[in-house]
Amino acid sequence: MTILVNLIVCLIVGAAGAAAGWSLRGLLGGRASAPNINGDDNENSPEIRRRETEGIIARLQELAEGIAIDVGAHSESVLNASTELQSEEHTKDEVLGVLARVLQANDALTKKLESAEEKLFEQATLIQTAAEEANTDALTGVNNRRCFDKLMAEAQSEFRNDGMPSCVMMMDVDHFKKFNDTHGHQAGDEVLKYVARTLKRKARRYGQVCRYGGEEFAIIFNGSTIEQCMGWAEAARAAIGEGSVEFEGKTLRVNASAGLAQIQAGESFESQVKRADDSLYHAKEAGRNRGFWNDGKASHPMEGSKEAQHEPMDGAEPEWLVGMSTPAGFRDEVKRRVAEWKRGGPTVSIAMLRIDGWMELIASRGSEAADLVQKATVQFLKASVRDMDNIGNMGDGVFCTMFPSARLENTQKIAERLRSAIARCEVPTGNARINFSVSIGVAELNLGDSPELFIERAEGAMNEASSEGGNACIVHDGDQFVCVTRRENVPS
Ligand code: GH3
Ligand code: MG
Ligand code: MG
Repeated sequence: MTILVNLIVCLIVGAAGAAAGWSLRGLLGGRASAPNINGDDNENSPEIRRRETEGIIARLQELAEGIAIDVGAHSESVLNASTELQSEEHTKDEVLGVLARVLQANDALTKKLESAEEKLFEQATLIQTAAEEANTDALTGVNNRRCFDKLMAEAQSEFRNDGMPSCVMMMDVDHFKKFNDTHGHQAGDEVLKYVARTLKRKARRYGQVCRYGGEEFAIIFNGSTIEQCMGWAEAARAAIGEGSVEFEGKTLRVNASAGLAQIQAGESFESQVKRADDSLYHAKEAGRNRGFWNDGKASHPMEGSKEAQHEPMDGAEPEWLVGMSTPAGFRDEVKRRVAEWKRGGPTVSIAMLRIDGWMELIASRGSEAADLVQKATVQFLKASVRDMDNIGNMGDGVFCTMFPSARLENTQKIAERLRSAIARCEVPTGNARINFSVSIGVAELNLGDSPELFIERAEGAMNEASSEGGNACIVHDGDQFVCVTRRENVPS
């Protein structure tokens, strides 16, 4: 009897495990759909959005009620079975009969949960798409004004709480009214799309591009001082005039003027934007097609720094690396998550990964082959995270991945899947194929962690995995390193 009761308990736990599994997969597995950049006004009207949101909420409520009923029915059938067994003596066949009914009930619940998982996944994708559309400018596909205000408010509070510097560049297309009058509004629209594309390409990992309104754009350089971002900002502004747009057989060109300002102690972001606007006005007054920056008192001409010219911002970086955070950007993102967690937000885990034998790989196969290996690694990484912001390219074959809301056990499973998938992968290079492996360190945010310590713990675990010979996954559980897997599948 005890065995049977234990079995029933196992079945209930198993079903609960399945339930936990779908919620987690739903959370981690959601993929963002491409934002609708061609949507017309109709599709984007607040009324339609509101109705869509209400529809999603109603479907989710229905689903939650359905799950509650299914789980209730399942518990009832398990309870009935156990009551039946406890009430009198039973033959072995009777016990097996009851067990079969419990198994059947379990099977039915699992199927229902699986179908609920699919529906939840669909709804989660819809919610994500709606959220992205709400933050995206329909014409240009960059962040819209609402998103600009949100990002600026976040930057302001990060500056107040953690002293993180932040700059904003306000940029305005020159003589755009005349351009529209000469070439027509459609040509104007194409140019605005070109401006957005150019700014995104130039700002890359360093800045967030927004359409402020009309022919005005902004780039937020979060985590940068004015000295650090002036070169990037000026390079992005100047690039507008360097390229051109082909439209109905004509080659169209525009220039832009810009103003840059860094947030100052005690300042609101609105005041920072106003100072950037003042500098933009100076740029227009000084003859347009130039940038000025504001030091809090006066405006000065912007200079394209030599440093910026050497930064890989001009297409030198391969496409598959685009959008990934820099080491500083990644650390800032971790900082933000840690601060959020300290204010009661969700937990966060990190997996840090190193391509084993990176330097030897470059030396023996050349940098092109090494790049292909990096590319394959990044493809695996992208498949395991939802947001490119959460992948940091730390250099020298090291990548860092952040999993918001994920507990250590789950990140460890994902890391292990990554390690084992990579170990089985072959990268074709010319007529040879390269097998390679990675060492992964995993850590979850702990009490007493500073952002630096948190990253260090993941890095320590990764180093430990490397020193074990690579192709290993090691967790730092807060006190010590725990080996998850190692070298059972070492590629030759
Ligand atoms: P300045 O160099 O001083 O900035 O002159 P400007 O002509 O660019 O400035 P003004 O503010 O007088 O005109 C802005 C023009 O931008 C007017 C408006 O028709 C055009 N514009 C704003 N939004 C759009 C848009 O979405 N598409 C198109 N094609 N034009 C737009
Ligand atoms: Mg304007
Ligand atoms: Mg203008």
